[in-house]
Amino acid sequence: MPTESSPEYDETLGDKFVFVTGGVMSGLGKGITAASLGRLLENAGFDVTAVKIDPYLNVDAGTMNPFQHGEVYVLDDGAEVDLDLGNYERFLDVEMTAANNITTGKVYQDVIEKERSGEYLGKTVQIIPHITDNIKKRIREVAEGHDVCIIEVGGTVGDIEGMPFLEALRQFQTEEASDDFLLTHVTLLPYSEAGEQKTKPTQHSVKEVRSIGLQPDIIVGRCEDQLEEKPREKIALFCDVPTDAVISNPDVDEIYEVPEVLEAEGFGEYVMEQLGIADDAYPEDDRDYRWRDRVTAERTDSVEIALVGKYGMDDAYMSVYEALRHAGMELNTSVETRWVHAEDITDSVQSLTGVDGIIVPGGFGERGVGGKIRAAQYARENDVPYLGLCLGFQVAVIEYAQNVLGLTAAHSTEFDEDTPHPVIDIMPEQYDVENLGGTMRLGAYTAAIESDSLADTLYTGDTCEGRHRHRFEVNPDYIDRLEAGQLTFSGEMNNRMELVEYAKHPFFFGTQFHPEYNSRPLSPSPAFVGLVTATLDRSAYATTTGWEGKPAADAR
Ligand code: GLN
Repeated sequence: MPTESSPEYDETLGDKFVFVTGGVMSGLGKGITAASLGRLLENAGFDVTAVKIDPYLNVDAGTMNPFQHGEVYVLDDGAEVDLDLGNYERFLDVEMTAANNITTGKVYQDVIEKERSGEYLGKTVQIIPHITDNIKKRIREVAEGHDVCIIEVGGTVGDIEGMPFLEALRQFQTEEASDDFLLTHVTLLPYSEAGEQKTKPTQHSVKEVRSIGLQPDIIVGRCEDQLEEKPREKIALFCDVPTDAVISNPDVDEIYEVPEVLEAEGFGEYVMEQLGIADDAYPEDDRDYRWRDRVTAERTDSVEIALVGKYGMDDAYMSVYEALRHAGMELNTSVETRWVHAEDITDSVQSLTGVDGIIVPGGFGERGVGGKIRAAQYARENDVPYLGLCLGFQVAVIEYAQNVLGLTAAHSTEFDEDTPHPVIDIMPEQYDVENLGGTMRLGAYTAAIESDSLADTLYTGDTCEGRHRHRFEVNPDYIDRLEAGQLTFSGEMNNRMELVEYAKHPFFFGTQFHPEYNSRPLSPSPAFVGLVTATLDRSAYATTTGWEGKPAADAR
């Protein structure tokens, strides 16, 4: 029964909960499975939210290195969270907040602060009930007001860091009515040498779940191929679930296909029945099929876009890759990305030869900046569509100052503290910042768009909004000089430059914010759609930008 031993517990919150745990090994695509279930429930008319639990001790992902951990994902409220939250936003098409990501660090920090301020009235503060109550309270608060809350427990069952979360989950199982609580366990079915799908790791992993006092209601089997009948029955028998509750989740080419694959397995229907909400779902004919239509639409064109970065790992730029895919879906175009290491670009831009467009994404630190500046120059001079994201925006401004205004030593003070022309400079509010976690200019801010600009053609309305994560910005002292020629800051707010564009070019655009964080399959980012459109038809933007056009062959 509920523990009311701490001031945290409020049993009136929350409604239907689907927990997702993982076994056998990490990296199984548990997050995609959970997010895909969310999409199926949304398609059936339910309002779904999600919680990602990261059992690590970091309070948030803000200080984590992209080399090791992939990109730091930023939410509207400025929270720096695990990149998996990006999948939930993209699949559910919702905006999340810091509360949707729970880490061990966050929970302990909160409980210890409460202990210090005397809130526990002299009691001994313990993992059970104080930490577990704090975890349950956080989950219930997120769930409040939504039909279903999906909670993914990061890591693998049995990991020492995950224990308090699984104990909280066990308590949930006893506190909630059986049709308000479901546990889905995602495991791996490897092939034996003889080509058989083996269930033993799954059996062991379910045994581990049971030893904590939990019983999975659904088993999702990740396997290279579709689960065969025999292993499916074996899992049902050994793990005590009906065969309908064993869901096959084979490898697919593209993550956005997973909801369809799981739908075909009856995953959504089974969950709705178990939660007692099947009668409230839209009839199958009336479901929202926009997702499926987008994913299955034929790609009639294909383009190649260079991503000029330095963190040589796909996950470090996950949202950028995804945003390109979304733009591709919008335009029925398959977008290939060519990974280009910024340090490989010197005076020679050979690694960029033949690309249809260039993206310089966000980044920190000096390494590779020279190559990024060179890439922006190459794009500007050769009419290659260019999109600069945060650092890529700053780089475009530096390049223009150096090569067009002739301020050859112009730079950002991030990379050259003593530059005589600090066109990009630290923001005043960052002068005294010493602590690196969560201290940048973070989260969503609005910019006013200049009329008759490229930005004006991309965004509907006279403002645009995007999520920020930076310390440096355009130095206001240089704005007049920078804007005297072909360069325009077409979006700004309170004298902060948010958008940059270069006239007489098919598409040269930069954003101080990160539009990739707001891009979704069902609502792609206008900046990315603009880039891909420009790569498809370089003359499409000529009317707006005054670009007269060059034969494509010259431009490359
Ligand atoms: N390093 C730059 C800054 O802090 C850009 C940051 C980014 O690209 N996210 O302003």
